[in-house]
Amino acid sequence: MKKAAIIGAGISGLSTAHLLKDRYDCTIFEKEETPGGLIRCRRVNGSLFHICGGHIFNSKRQDVLDWFWSIFNREEEFQKADRNSVVFMADGKHIPYPIENHIYLFDNETQKLFIQDLLSIAKNEGYEPHNFEEFLRNRFGETLYNIYFKPYNEKVWRRNLKSVPLSWLEGKLPMPTVEEMIFNNINQVKEKNFVHATFWYEKENGSQHIADKLSQGLNIKYNSNIESIERRGNKWIINEEDFDTVVFCGNIKQLPTLLKGVEITEYKEKIDALEYHGTTAVFCQIEKNNYSWIYLPDNKYESHRIICTGNFAASNNAPDTMTATVEFTDEISKDDIMEQLGRIPMNPKYIDHQYNKYTYPIQDADTRNMIASLKSELAKEDFFFTGRFADWEYYNMDVAIGAAMDLCKTL
Ligand SMILES: Cc1cc2nc3c(=O)[nH]c(=O)nc-3n(C[C@H](O)[C@H](O)[C@H](O)COP(=O)(O)OP(=O)(O)OC[C@H]3O[C@@H](n4cnc5c(N)ncnc54)[C@H](O)[C@@H]3O)c2cc1C
Repeated sequence: MKKAAIIGAGISGLSTAHLLKDRYDCTIFEKEETPGGLIRCRRVNGSLFHICGGHIFNSKRQDVLDWFWSIFNREEEFQKADRNSVVFMADGKHIPYPIENHIYLFDNETQKLFIQDLLSIAKNEGYEPHNFEEFLRNRFGETLYNIYFKPYNEKVWRRNLKSVPLSWLEGKLPMPTVEEMIFNNINQVKEKNFVHATFWYEKENGSQHIADKLSQGLNIKYNSNIESIERRGNKWIINEEDFDTVVFCGNIKQLPTLLKGVEITEYKEKIDALEYHGTTAVFCQIEKNNYSWIYLPDNKYESHRIICTGNFAASNNAPDTMTATVEFTDEISKDDIMEQLGRIPMNPKYIDHQYNKYTYPIQDADTRNMIASLKSELAKEDFFFTGRFADWEYYNMDVAIGAAMDLCKTL
């Protein structure tokens, strides 16, 4: 049997190992001491802290769902939930998500402005936006752009929304038509079309359960931070062991220094220039509520959302506690966290926090071509890569699994 080295025991590496294990003798190298990457969780004071976000599962891809549910017992290990999200507006109103379906809850003045916006959007039919700002203005109108989409997205992306290319958000953007928005408001319809409108969540241990179960039976070398992958003849050498094939599921930014014996210098500058954001996840005790996510466009505080992980499963909370993660883009100090929490709604009380340096890859117009070209160069040497930061794509877990499936079919 051929030997494959897989770098990284996040969802991408773990899925890859499962998909290859009947055909390859697989070894996973993971730098941390537990599996999961971004989906890792840990218990703090008896409650479950998702070190990044609050991972929920669903997919539009039937092959991903079939594969996932062939490993997990849906009824025994998971529970299904409807997304119940809300936007806490700067003026104190709580508007259910998605905001464009709930214009009837705003004051008359805002409703009239929105109707005017819809009329001009309808006149503009066929207009092709060039960037995220144009997309939002053109799809939802000036009024919603100014009171919600602009302030919220500027907090998340920390940049002028004109500089966000649309390709980067492909498949992630809501695309309601004018007719749909009018219909949904008249009939007070809740949005059911987006991928996470309903979702699956683990009864115990949150997304750590996915990582723990997938890691069972695999050969994973933990605490193995791989700093060199060397091409010698037709083998790859990692920690003095040779492999026929490598699937790299770490961060593409590491490749120029990691790879020895193959020439990728011409990609180095572009790889170094790839932009990204990190996230500071602040684990808190908060007031009891029945929301899944609370969006915070208000500029009074830097946080853009609260993920009410305590509502995802009863086992996520210690007795008589309700927990959630308050999320900030990039790194923020403990002092700033404490100062900010005092202003954030729902009375969050600090329990713990974690900064993850790489959480949101940012593409430019050339990123996909550059990565496709590097992939095809390295594939000639039996070196492959897949994953959120290997592909520099805004993957959700299911899309990362799908990408691993697509790759493994070719190996
Ligand atoms: C805030 C936030 C919220 C999210 N919420 C959801 C959600 O609700 N639902 C959903 O489906 N998706 C969600 N996602 C997306 C999801 O987190 C990712 O799609 C998924 O975790 C990516 O997995 P990965 O294996 O590609 O990368 P990672 O999870 O980053 O895994 C990479 C692994 O490789 C290891 N590694 C890296 N370099 C090396 C090296 N040199 N040597 C050894 N090991 C190495 C790392 O330690 C890590 O374990 C969210 C993402 C974020 C940022």
